[in-house]
Amino acid sequence: MTNTFCCTMAFAAVLAGSFPTNMLAQNILGLPPALPWSGRSERLIAKPDDKWITPAEAANFQTTPRYAEVKTWLERLAAASPLLTIKTFGRTGKGRELLYVRASKGGPAKPVVLVQAGIHAGEIDGKDAGLMLLRDIALRGKDDLLDRVDLVFVPIYNIDGHEQLSAWNYPHLRGPAEKGRDVNARNINLNRDYGKADAPETRAMVALLRELDPILYVDCHVSEGFDMQYDVTFTYAGWGKYARHRATADWLQGRFGPAVTQALSKAGHTPTNYPSPLDTREPTKGIRYSPEGPRYSTGYGDFISVPTVLVENHMLKPYRQRVLGTYVLLEAALKIAAQDAERIAAAKATDRASRPTELLTRWTPAPQPIGWVEQFKGIAFEWYQSPASGRLEQRWLGRPVTFRMPIIGQQPTESVRLPKAWWVPAAQAEVLDRLRLHGIMFETIETPRTLRLDQVRLVDPKLLTPSEGRVPITATFVHALGEQVLPAGSVRVPAGQPNGLLAASLLEPESQDSFLAWGFFPEMLSPAPSTDAFVLAALGERLLATNPAIKAAFEVKLRAEPAFATDPTARLAWFYEQAGPGHPYRLQYPIARELN
Ligand SMILES: [Zn+2]
Repeated sequence: MTNTFCCTMAFAAVLAGSFPTNMLAQNILGLPPALPWSGRSERLIAKPDDKWITPAEAANFQTTPRYAEVKTWLERLAAASPLLTIKTFGRTGKGRELLYVRASKGGPAKPVVLVQAGIHAGEIDGKDAGLMLLRDIALRGKDDLLDRVDLVFVPIYNIDGHEQLSAWNYPHLRGPAEKGRDVNARNINLNRDYGKADAPETRAMVALLRELDPILYVDCHVSEGFDMQYDVTFTYAGWGKYARHRATADWLQGRFGPAVTQALSKAGHTPTNYPSPLDTREPTKGIRYSPEGPRYSTGYGDFISVPTVLVENHMLKPYRQRVLGTYVLLEAALKIAAQDAERIAAAKATDRASRPTELLTRWTPAPQPIGWVEQFKGIAFEWYQSPASGRLEQRWLGRPVTFRMPIIGQQPTESVRLPKAWWVPAAQAEVLDRLRLHGIMFETIETPRTLRLDQVRLVDPKLLTPSEGRVPITATFVHALGEQVLPAGSVRVPAGQPNGLLAASLLEPESQDSFLAWGFFPEMLSPAPSTDAFVLAALGERLLATNPAIKAAFEVKLRAEPAFATDPTARLAWFYEQAGPGHPYRLQYPIARELN
């Protein structure tokens, strides 16, 4: 993917073998100097003798509580307040119960603000901020935040990753002392899994999103990359500019951003939009705005028209400062969502009534910046020769500098025109399961139908490095119209529906987040069945003698592909493919497109 998001460090296990103790880890991992900080948000911290002090506050933000402690603390808080209920919404891969707290004043159903922490479990600021905020809502007079909205708070999304605490996880983060892992129990990054929905956690979250249909969805993370003065940063799909759905993106850009920026600034924080760097070693090369696929929370939110915010606290700010900043952001988010509840609902309705006719599938950095941050608040660094790496490395100096930062946009290089519908064979159970999960509408035919459809063949498919529990593939796609008999039980997915663009992103072969791109149809790549060589050799000889076109193609192939020329089995298989009707699975995308 062209997007570089936070947080996929995975070398902890390797290091842990050489340095077994967490104490040693803390001493040996030297982070650059922190900027001094104080702000009004420090007043949010409970006094040491407070009965309702949260575990992180009690530990002076040096440590963060485990799942069991979080659950117990929340149960105690919920028992003390009629505003809070704890519910479960699924189980992790290891069978742990996924929890959320609903904070509500009851009465007629109110719109929901959904906040999740710990999708990347080491980036856990949102959990400890949420516990403080829930306490203040339940017991400390902030219940007016619930006058017009309910808060649904998932304290730990990736619980299985969260419970693998180690000081070697997320070594770029300044606290807490031990952190969880980025991936779930099957080594799947949940923030790449929204569209393909392989993980049980993702399936539970997608179902929760459909059940709640929130007016705002906030996903709390911590950054990686480069040092800077900003402590709380946030973004949306494509920073609004490259959003797939305009009305919700405009609300985020026009209303959410300014409200949250103002609240954070007043509380002593330094917010900005999340600067995704082109090159962390050369920050001045620029920051990137880019379209997103539905693998990400923000991309998925954009595709389903739910305003979705990615919070990226800055890694090198102390944990205490980051948690306080998250608290301020979440409180401001609740306020602006409550104030704009009707406006957001209208934006969602506008987006869902729109019927986009194209899906942008490929893009490339634009040659000229699309804008500049005139006074980017950076941190000075110097280069030094590292005996460890054997090259020049950055040393961040903790000294504020400002510079002019280019904003690098994207120019489209490929888009697909949406068909009228897609046809999915009944046998594609994995695909049908995902369509149901996402709430993509389809109909199943009860009698066979014959239609002229756009059928897609793969040319030159390549398996990519395994990723996120899948073996992704790339290929060139050749489209051709052909008559096809669709047996009873075939499924028609119309593009003209509120989730039409999401369906396109999952079903159009060219889409980078399609099921095909993720490698859902490995049967396409199996070799065609063959038979005995004496049969194929005789067949090939007859073809060479009687079919000049095949003879010419064979001679070209012999000259162009030495590996082919010296592989008797491949040569015979080639003749079989040329002569026969072809194998129904071989390199044939099983989903066909009904054109307009
Ligand atoms: Zn993250």
